[in-house]
Amino acid sequence: MSEIETLDCLIIGSGPAGYTAAIYAARADMKPVLYQGMQPGGQLTTTNEVENFPGYPDGVTGPEMMVQLEAQAKRFETDVRFGFITKVDFSGSIHKCWTEDGKEIHAKTIIISTGASAKYLGLPSEQKYLEMGGGVSACAVCDGFFYRGQETVIVGAGDSACEEAHYLSKLCTKVTMLVRKDEFRASKIMADRVKNTPNIEILFSTDTVEVLGDDNGVTGALVKNSVTGEEKTIPCTGFFVAIGHTPNTAIFKEFIDLDETGYIKYAEAGTSLTNVPGVFVAGDAADKRYRQAITAAGTGCMAALDAERYLAAQGH
Ligand code: NDP
Repeated sequence: MSEIETLDCLIIGSGPAGYTAAIYAARADMKPVLYQGMQPGGQLTTTNEVENFPGYPDGVTGPEMMVQLEAQAKRFETDVRFGFITKVDFSGSIHKCWTEDGKEIHAKTIIISTGASAKYLGLPSEQKYLEMGGGVSACAVCDGFFYRGQETVIVGAGDSACEEAHYLSKLCTKVTMLVRKDEFRASKIMADRVKNTPNIEILFSTDTVEVLGDDNGVTGALVKNSVTGEEKTIPCTGFFVAIGHTPNTAIFKEFIDLDETGYIKYAEAGTSLTNVPGVFVAGDAADKRYRQAITAAGTGCMAALDAERYLAAQGH
């Protein structure tokens, strides 16, 4: 059997939440080890320009910002490891975790910062422009600004889609909302808000056939009415997808309280505490409301401070 490693602080996940937790934990001499997970750098690595993170007056690309956060965490000797945690056991007083290659880790404190993944339609054309950074986005608050004065399309019918359509309507000349059924899933108040916004056109029973574009990026969307079969092209330079997120919390569900959609529940509002003492959560794994790099970073700080206090109370 391989040797068990015992840590004061294990951080799972490498988005802004995880790296901020690492910076604080390392500076508090908790000698954190951070496992980067499946997508080192997290969701920001799929974003182009980040203009709303304070401290970057000229903006910064998502991947560049994650390189800087990693460097800052390492400066204080965070042990950043490429790899991921595949299994946990929080049933006893010792928190046990296993890596993908079978290594067993016992940690006095654990900070979960595994984030969430935006859902996409899965069309090859959508993925092409997403990878190109050429007009496909799952975050209107992050990227809407780049389409000001232009026409955009947004897919989805939940509260997020309504909120984001409304956000885009203030920046864009026209927003076309594609709803696959003949009704919204969103709350009435949110749906009414988009219905009453003059520059939002709602197309019900409408599916996306293809995202259209050229070498510079998106130029339109080919859509099809599922009732009449009629196809048409909607011109747009931004194609937004707001069809939900999947929190990356599956490995914790046996031990950590999750809500009905899989997000981790805080044991105490305004803290990072989970139902398991010594296990804390930061970032989008517990946040379906804000989902911003800055809010993730803020909760990462909170989790490290809560973990430090927990360790101190245990006599460390
Ligand atoms: P939801 O799961 O609530 O909604 C997803 C929407 O996307 C549904 O309308 C669904 O359609 C549609 N959809 C899913 N897959 C596809 C697809 N392949 N093609 C086209 N449409 C698709 O996700 P949200 O992110 O909107 O909300 C998540 C949670 O967060 C909810 O509980 C919501 O209330 C909450 N929230 C609250 C806010 C607030 O209060 N301010 C703001 C944002 C979110 P269909 O209806 O046909 O299934």
